[in-house]
Amino acid sequence: MSSTFAPSEFAGFSALNREGYQGFSYSRVANPTIDQLQEKLAVLEGTEAAQVFGSGMAAAHALLLSRLAVEDHVIFSEVNYVGIAELIRNSLPRWGIQVSPLDTSDIKEISSAIRPNTKMIWLETPANPILRLADIKSIAILAREKNVKDVVVDSTFATPIATKPLELGATFVMHSLTKYICGHDDAMGGAILGSKKDIEDLNLEATVHYGGIMSPFNAWLILRGVATLPIRMKMHEDSALAVANFLTNHSEINTVIYPGLPSHPQHHLAKEQMMNNSGMIAFTPRKSGLELAQKMIDKLGFIHFAVSLGHHRTLIYWIPTEAILRSSFKLNKTAEEKYRSLASDGVFRLSIGLENAEDICEDLDKVL
Ligand SMILES: *Cc1c(COP(=O)(O)O)cnc(C)c1O
Repeated sequence: MSSTFAPSEFAGFSALNREGYQGFSYSRVANPTIDQLQEKLAVLEGTEAAQVFGSGMAAAHALLLSRLAVEDHVIFSEVNYVGIAELIRNSLPRWGIQVSPLDTSDIKEISSAIRPNTKMIWLETPANPILRLADIKSIAILAREKNVKDVVVDSTFATPIATKPLELGATFVMHSLTKYICGHDDAMGGAILGSKKDIEDLNLEATVHYGGIMSPFNAWLILRGVATLPIRMKMHEDSALAVANFLTNHSEINTVIYPGLPSHPQHHLAKEQMMNNSGMIAFTPRKSGLELAQKMIDKLGFIHFAVSLGHHRTLIYWIPTEAILRSSFKLNKTAEEKYRSLASDGVFRLSIGLENAEDICEDLDKVL
C-alpha cells in the first residue's frame, strides 16, 4: 500500500528521465502489488504487458487521449457501454477529433467509413446492451490493409476466458476490471493490454500525467478475484444458457438475446470467436418494461435490480430505449429503427451470477 519507495541509487526527479532505473519510486507510476496484477492480466490475455487504472472509464479515457490528436478520425460501435459512447461521441469532437459511430457487426460499413486520417477502430464485443458482436479477426485484417494504426477491443463482457482479441490481431484490449475479472462486487478498476512498447508509452503518459491509477488495495482484491475467473466463467455460462432457454420458452417474454443461443443473429461468429458465451443476457418482455422494472425492484428475492455486471450475485437492470437514444447513442434514422426492432421500449440486461440456475429462473418467474 506504500505511496513512496526509498531508492537504492539516485534516480532523478521526473519519471520521464529516470533512465535505466528499474526500481520503484512513487506509486502513481509503479507499485509492486499493481505490477503483480498487471503481469497476471497480461498472461491471461496472452500478451506482453498491461496497465491498470482506477476504473474502466479511466482506462478508456487514457488510451483515447494518449493515442489520438487533433484531426484524427475514430470509428466506433454505435451501440456500446454508455460512458464510452458519450466520451467518444460528445467529448472527443470538442478536442478536434472526428468520430464515426456505426454498426461494427457489418465489416462493409467499417470499410467504407475508413478515411486517410482514421487512426483507431474502437470495438466492443459483445456490445452493451444488445450483445451485438464484432468480427475482431476480419476487422484487424481490414485495419492493417488500410493502415489504421489501432484496433481497440473493449472485451469486458467476454473476458479473456472467452476471447483473446490481441491473438486475433487487435492492437489493444480494454477491460473494466470492476466486472467479471474482479467478480466480487467490491473493487473498481480498468486495464489496457497490448505490446510492451505500446504499454510503456501509455504508462508514461497516463500515470505520470493523467493520474487515473488504481489503489494497490483494489489490485489485491482484484488479484483474489482473478484466481477464480476460469471456474466462475464456466458457471456463469452454464447458468446463462439455462436461464436463456427458460426465458425463450416463457409466455411473457418477447425476445431473448444471448450469444450461446442459435437464435442470436451472430451465433456462428460467437462459436468462432467466443470460447465461453459469458453470462450476459438481454431480453424484452411482452408487457411494459417500466412496470416490470418497478415490479422487479419491489418483488425480486436474491436477484438485485442494480447496475453493473459480472458479479457473483445475479443483477438485472432495465435500459429504456428512449432514454439511451437521447443521452448516449443518438443514432441516425436507420440505426435507430434497427435498434428499436430489437429493443422495443427497453431491454432488460441480466448478468447471471453464481447462484443455482433453477433458483434464478424461479426468482425471475415470480415477477414475469
Ligand atoms: C462497466 C463497463 C465499462 C466502464 O468501466 P468502469 O469500471 O465502470 O469505469 C466500460 N465498458 C464496459 C463494456 C463496461 O461494462
